[in-house]
Amino acid sequence: MKKKIKCFNSIKELIFNYKFFISKEIKIKGWVKHFRYNCFIIINDGSTINNLQIFIDKKFYSLVKKINIGISIEVIGVLVLSQGKEQNIEIYANKIKIIGKFSPEELQKTILQPKTHSFKKLREQAYLRFRTSIFSSILRIRHNISFSIHKFFFQKNFMYINTPIITTYDSEGAGEMFRVTNFDLKKIPLNEKGELNNNLDFFGTSTYLTVSGQLQGEAAASGLGKIYTFGPTFRAEKSNTFRHLSEFWMIEPEMSFSKLVHNMNFAEKLLKYVIKFVINNSYEDLFFLEKKNKRKIFKRLNNVLESSFERISYTNAIKILKSRKKVEFLQSINWGEDLKSEHEKFLAENYFNNPIIIYNYPLKIKPFYMRINNDNKTVAAMDIIFPYIGEIIGGSQREERYNVLLKRILELNLNIKSLWWYLNIRRFGSVPHSGFGLGFERLIQYITNIDNIKDVIPFPRYPNHAYF
Ligand code: ATP
Ligand code: MN
Repeated sequence: MKKKIKCFNSIKELIFNYKFFISKEIKIKGWVKHFRYNCFIIINDGSTINNLQIFIDKKFYSLVKKINIGISIEVIGVLVLSQGKEQNIEIYANKIKIIGKFSPEELQKTILQPKTHSFKKLREQAYLRFRTSIFSSILRIRHNISFSIHKFFFQKNFMYINTPIITTYDSEGAGEMFRVTNFDLKKIPLNEKGELNNNLDFFGTSTYLTVSGQLQGEAAASGLGKIYTFGPTFRAEKSNTFRHLSEFWMIEPEMSFSKLVHNMNFAEKLLKYVIKFVINNSYEDLFFLEKKNKRKIFKRLNNVLESSFERISYTNAIKILKSRKKVEFLQSINWGEDLKSEHEKFLAENYFNNPIIIYNYPLKIKPFYMRINNDNKTVAAMDIIFPYIGEIIGGSQREERYNVLLKRILELNLNIKSLWWYLNIRRFGSVPHSGFGLGFERLIQYITNIDNIKDVIPFPRYPNHAYF
């Protein structure tokens, strides 16, 4: 009878189930990470931060000469308990097959060579960085964060909806949107006045990549009750900073029958749930990053779990900032002006040393859809600011009163032709409702304590960079 060989789909699966296969013959595949002494090959397959050690005896020595770091192999061997301290198990190889190989000279030119590369260097070969311990670690954490967000909303009975990526909405942040067109750019149709004739474009009007799914989300929530979106958003802003991407992912819940204070409570719950889930489920990857980057990760995350987010009105935030000597800030700040990141930084890092929620911002610096407060000067907005990252969530209670919203749209001279349906939501059983936008990559950045947002997304898009 032919002996049965247990084939494992991943090293993660093997490590999870090894107790049932000791002394049995198994099959596993992976990429060669490095060698130890002369008798071990260490492989990894991306499923876990843990490597697998393969013991090779003399009969393989001529084969091993052809094996270099980075190539892929298949191993059939006996699973044994390891004598080493670093791992529980190892494979005593009976058969080694080379799957894909390349030369050591080629290896020298890539980030696959085993040494510490800068994040910038990894980015230059972004299509290969999935193979590195550090980037695969970040992406496994990203995966768990994403899963935990869906899980949270599922448990809270929110419906996951998908909002359009191509929109006609062009009234907020003009100039910060990417145009979508299929005009032949060599023969752009102009009207009598010499302007672009958008009526002749694919959709019969000018279209853009979405900056947010909120408006459509509100429509969905006005029938489904509680919804969330989790999709890509696009910003054509030129700001090439450590926390801005031109293409990023946003989580946007929208809740009917919900006011600002509930919005704040809910956002805080979501963030804490995700952090807890990730500590529980990405423990090994977080631990690896903490050691590798010499950054405090667990302490920082546990602090967030233990704290209740400090809530402070915009007006009180300004009072605190103004009571400081001017020298502390590059830019002075007065009531009615938007907080600059140095001000947010000061409040979250120095003054409170905690995540903070700033609410009730001046009407003039916030978008038209936010609900006007009784003072007629502020709106029911709330931003959540994390130390070292800055704004991670921006949200508000929405203006649900038809007349008030109409007046606001007209005052701001917004394009009613593209907003009429949004206004109309207020005509058919309108209810108080609120929601927010959580920047997915900013959250990953905070959890992993990675400096640059470009290093927490598989293929970053930013000004002058759309490679791979
Ligand atoms: P900021 O002032 O930091 O540029 P914003 O006010 O433009 O942020 P919103 O329009 O409120 O941000 O978007 C909601 C959330 O999306 C933000 O709180 C942030 O987490 C995230 N976000 C915004 N712009 C970007 C970007 N360019 N890249 C990555 N995430 C972003
Ligand atoms: Mn912005």
